[in-house]
Amino acid sequence: MPKPHVLLSVALLGVSLWAQSPSPSKEVQAVYADSYALYLDLHQHPELSSHELQTAAKVAAKLRGFGYQVTENVGGTGIVAVMKNGAGPTIMLRTELDALPVEEKTGLPYASKVHANDDSGQDVSVMQACGHDLHMASLIGTAQIMAQTKNTWHGTLVIIGQPAEETLSGANPMVDDGLMTRFPKPDVIVALHVGNVLPAGKVGVTPGYRSSNADSIRITIFGKGGHGAAPHTTIDPIVLGARIVLVLQTIASREVKPGEAAVVTVGYFQAGVKNNIIPDQAQLGITVRTVKPDVRKQVLAAIDRIVKGEAEAAGVVRLPEVVHYEATDAVYNDPALAQRLTVALEAALGKNNVEQLPPSMTSEDFSVFVEQGVPGFYFSLGGANPEKYVEAKASGNNLPSNHSSLFAPDAPPAIAIGITAEVAVLRNLFSSSAADLQKLTAQK
Ligand SMILES: [Zn+2]
Ligand SMILES: [Zn+2]
Repeated sequence: MPKPHVLLSVALLGVSLWAQSPSPSKEVQAVYADSYALYLDLHQHPELSSHELQTAAKVAAKLRGFGYQVTENVGGTGIVAVMKNGAGPTIMLRTELDALPVEEKTGLPYASKVHANDDSGQDVSVMQACGHDLHMASLIGTAQIMAQTKNTWHGTLVIIGQPAEETLSGANPMVDDGLMTRFPKPDVIVALHVGNVLPAGKVGVTPGYRSSNADSIRITIFGKGGHGAAPHTTIDPIVLGARIVLVLQTIASREVKPGEAAVVTVGYFQAGVKNNIIPDQAQLGITVRTVKPDVRKQVLAAIDRIVKGEAEAAGVVRLPEVVHYEATDAVYNDPALAQRLTVALEAALGKNNVEQLPPSMTSEDFSVFVEQGVPGFYFSLGGANPEKYVEAKASGNNLPSNHSSLFAPDAPPAIAIGITAEVAVLRNLFSSSAADLQKLTAQK
């Protein structure tokens, strides 16, 4: 039989499994309804990367209403909201604003039915399939609590809404537009990300590298086309491409030291139009994920060497073109900061609700902010419905991941825990001076 205060939370939040999560404090309960309403609105009105006009306007209006000084259109549709509250450190809290070109198939009563034209003019379905709506809802609850409890902290809180995270093209324009110079430069930057890796009610911390370096590579192989019945008169780019695909598999398995993280995936292989024509060219699209900088260098060099070597072995006239067209660095969590904030999260949520997680192979342009010399803390928020999480674990299945058309986090408890965790992290950071935070994060 749950305790009376748990029953109250259940009634308030409309969640049957609330008893498994830490029950929210009064201050979180007080802002929860508004945050959840914003979540439902944002979920039903998702916008593609770099087109987050309505989303940014809604978030900006809320922050302005709480008394923040809000600047819009920073690096595109980005927003920056500042609240000064006496002497103390400057802490930045970040959310993303964008959604994905995915058709929602969750069957939820508030599922998105939105369509939009993507940048190539094609009509696509749009869905908040990465949970950025949940990040915005949590951040708004946090912003309200911080604005209403200014006696509990001192310093400057800078809240940012970043566009175009999914295309990894939103953080750089904000920095280029003066994020670190026109506004107070933060001593620490904080963000969270929801996912089904943990059940709602829990958070995860990864000290050191949190996500991976991501490199996108396009390879064009130049062969010599001809009749399918006369291969001796050609240099077949399909056979050469196939050989390259196979040899690339030996980078992670034979070249990188066992235990080091490295992924080389060929995501597309395009060549030819007809069965009896050997084409002139073939194209491969590759994503490379690594964690350590030296492993990244090793893998990228190996790809160049293998592509060139295999092409020479095939006797090509023109060497393949290798274009490295997109790159993001790994997100690094300052270890001393991660250790200190783990303790703060344990105090707020209970020791059992804070887990240490290994780095993931996803990528994030949050790294851009950290590279401006700002120590970062990027943590994981449990999103899985606790009952479904247990079922999936027992049956050996995985719940739908972020970016899936079926991604449906258990929003009520996840938002409440998101707010609780962010407020705990911010208050903990604001309890130190800027100089003390610098000293802490300078430890190596
Ligand atoms: Zn995503
Ligand atoms: Zn995301």
